[in-house]
Amino acid sequence: MPELPEVETTRRGLAPHLEGKRIRGVVLRRPDLRWPIPKEIESVLPGQRIDAVRRRAKYLLLDTAAGSALLHLGMTGSLRVLPASTPIGAHDHVDLQLSSGRVMRFNDPRRFGSLLWQPAGETHELLRALGPEPLADEFDGDYLFARSRNRKAPVKTFLMDQGVVVGVGNIYAAESLFRAGISPLRAAGKVSRERYAALAAAVKDILAYAITRGGTTLRDFISPDGAPGYFEQELSAYGRGGQPCPTCGRPLKFANIGQRASVWCGHCQR
Ligand SMILES: [Zn+2]
Repeated sequence: MPELPEVETTRRGLAPHLEGKRIRGVVLRRPDLRWPIPKEIESVLPGQRIDAVRRRAKYLLLDTAAGSALLHLGMTGSLRVLPASTPIGAHDHVDLQLSSGRVMRFNDPRRFGSLLWQPAGETHELLRALGPEPLADEFDGDYLFARSRNRKAPVKTFLMDQGVVVGVGNIYAAESLFRAGISPLRAAGKVSRERYAALAAAVKDILAYAITRGGTTLRDFISPDGAPGYFEQELSAYGRGGQPCPTCGRPLKFANIGQRASVWCGHCQR
């Protein structure tokens, strides 16, 4: 599944091809993906100019004066910008025809992705309850400390709550907690302000690094267990249960926490 770094890499790859271009037409080869594709995508989007390509959590937004097309890659979605003459392949569900003579093509074999519409000046309901972006300045130790008081849930579950902060999936939660030396089982409300500062810094460092390494390609480098291949060789905890801790050499523990596979060092993480 594409995580935040892969979506950000996709955004950076698409933006130069889309920004400033006008949408000449929209081709929908089916009426729905995960959800029905709203009528505005066909009735409002053609003729609009794409002013910006933004990312919010794992959504991409193509901003126009009339509103934004909201895209989510789901499990298996991918977006490519191609010459308009490129033959249609299996699972090529949507084309946006661009004034550059190219098309942006949305391919999604399992169709957990989505294409939705956000009118100008509104925030789509899927985006309303989201916490801050992990790379934004407002996400820091003080924020995590304030949000976590009286929370009894394990800190790993708290960190993966999209209402707390977006885009910290299972891999990045495990790695950030390892780097910050915090046990994933510790109650979120029992972590100190200083340790949350270390955790916020670890989240930012690890995500920013993954984004810099995400420029190779997307699906081709996803390993069977879901870890992006370019990053997999550098993981300290995620997917390494039972193997030696990279810091102390003791076997890494593993268990389900909040129904998600979790790995940590019982010695280095307290
Ligand atoms: Zn250790």
